[in-house]
Amino acid sequence: MKSIKESFTTDAINIKTYPLGEYDNIVVMFSRQYGLIKGIAKGVKRPKSKLGARMQMLVANKIMLKNGRNFDTICEAQALNTFTKLRTNLDKLTYSMYLTEIINAMCTDSDEDVESNEKIYQLFYNVLEGISNSLNKIEIFLHSIRFQLKFMAQIGYGAEFETCLKCGCKIADGAYFSVSSGGVVCKNCRHGSDVYIGLHKKIREFLIAQQNCQNGEKTSYDELVDENFCEKCFLLLKKYIDSHASRPARALKVLKEIT
Ligand SMILES: [Zn+2]
Repeated sequence: MKSIKESFTTDAINIKTYPLGEYDNIVVMFSRQYGLIKGIAKGVKRPKSKLGARMQMLVANKIMLKNGRNFDTICEAQALNTFTKLRTNLDKLTYSMYLTEIINAMCTDSDEDVESNEKIYQLFYNVLEGISNSLNKIEIFLHSIRFQLKFMAQIGYGAEFETCLKCGCKIADGAYFSVSSGGVVCKNCRHGSDVYIGLHKKIREFLIAQQNCQNGEKTSYDELVDENFCEKCFLLLKKYIDSHASRPARALKVLKEIT
């Protein structure tokens, strides 16, 4: 779609950069219209670069790109949100980086499903803003968990917590979660070769509430949960996502190594 135009404009969030030669960087971005895209930020490492700080990780820009043979070139960038408060807190930064890794691992280059790209962009933008404004680690977890659930649903891997994957019964109590299938089975159906993780009723109910809540809304669980409970849920979803990703996310491993 974009290849027929000489240049194009889109909103995009920087998710990864790597060096190209002495002065340039390649920037991987998730864009509102085209999904995952790459562009060269020419001269970005020169002291007087006009792109400069806008090409850092986790900045949302309105950008103009010019089509190139191998790579598009980023000609202009106007910052939409720099998510400043992400950068001053190691937890905020680490969980945000983890989310960029999921997007990078699960999305494909220049996906032309504009409607889906738009939804993922909005989820991503909202989660970065949410994490940026979080007042404690529980809030960071809540934003991350919602993103994990909603992002997976958006790309066609929505997790099932209400109905047994095997017999279809409505589960009333605890259940068993299959990481590879991304859903729960009832106690009668848990026998077989799949590996299951026991899910307490409270965890199941909490995850269903997070799955169904709209952006910006609170659920009745948000005030009740503690950090441990949230971390458990977060890691369960991480396991599920890792099992579907081409490469497992590293950001949290790095946090463990430096703290
Ligand atoms: Zn069953």
